[in-house]
Amino acid sequence: MKYLEKFRVKPGSKVDLSKVDAGFKDKYHHGGDKKVQKELETHINKMREQQYLMYAEGGRSLLICLQGRDAAGKDGTINHVLSAMNPQGCTVTGFKVPSAEEAAHDFLWRYHQAMPPKGHVAIFNRSHYEDVLVVRVHNLVPKKIWSQRYQQINDFEKMLSDNGIHILKFYLHIDPDEQLERFKKRIDDPARHWKISTGDYAERPFWDAYSKAYEAALSRCSTAHAPWFIIPSNHKWFRNLAVSRIISEYMESLRMKFPEPTVDIAEIRQKYHDIVSNEKKRADA
Ligand code: ADP
Repeated sequence: MKYLEKFRVKPGSKVDLSKVDAGFKDKYHHGGDKKVQKELETHINKMREQQYLMYAEGGRSLLICLQGRDAAGKDGTINHVLSAMNPQGCTVTGFKVPSAEEAAHDFLWRYHQAMPPKGHVAIFNRSHYEDVLVVRVHNLVPKKIWSQRYQQINDFEKMLSDNGIHILKFYLHIDPDEQLERFKKRIDDPARHWKISTGDYAERPFWDAYSKAYEAALSRCSTAHAPWFIIPSNHKWFRNLAVSRIISEYMESLRMKFPEPTVDIAEIRQKYHDIVSNEKKRADA
């Protein structure tokens, strides 16, 4: 079964995160296995080929949204996916607490500006879903406002999709024990201290409230044109494998093609041969 199907939230289904195993590894055993390493490499190569095609085609683009709790692995996933991408055709944008200027606009304004132009891939580290996640959990705006946003997000994504932006959204699913384990590793490793923000520990008591908020977003906003995928992410290697496999499966399904040449190749080839033979004649003379 394609991972594109296996981990996709079916439109209209009701997500219950307590039923999703964050430690799922499918048929694989260990990240160090040769088979896993080989598959990771295969998906990276496929993504690389497909991104090249998308850039060459220059007609459509891809938006990849990454969401997850603190320490779920958004940065690690971006590192992995980016290793397949030519930086000329790819951007990464992280979204933090809105600046004064951003907050003065409608909530979708800042996300719209970061959308990929034709032929490009854009990766969002956090996304417009923050406006129904952290905002909902902490009542940053009244319920009357955030509750309308699910429909507004669906309409926004439909408009983007109708304009040639393909959208894939990934929720990186870890369980509470794994998060604590990762927090501990950060504390124990001086090279990771910079990653710790007070926000990390502040959000922990809201675990259940976030689960509810994620379940609502995943259930209400997984559509045919902008699907959500729930990625078991306790194992970093499995998370990377699943995300890169879904992206490559999806891009291949687009059946992208190199555009027709804008010049007469036979004529150019003839010119090339003329140059070579003239230069040879001159060198021999
Ligand atoms: P990282 O993304 O690496 O965790 P930070 O530690 O700076 O970066 O966290 C960014 C913070 O910004 C998060 O706590 C997130 O919930 C918050 N944030 C993002 N978007 C919004 C938003 N629209 N409204 C309020 N807070 C937001």
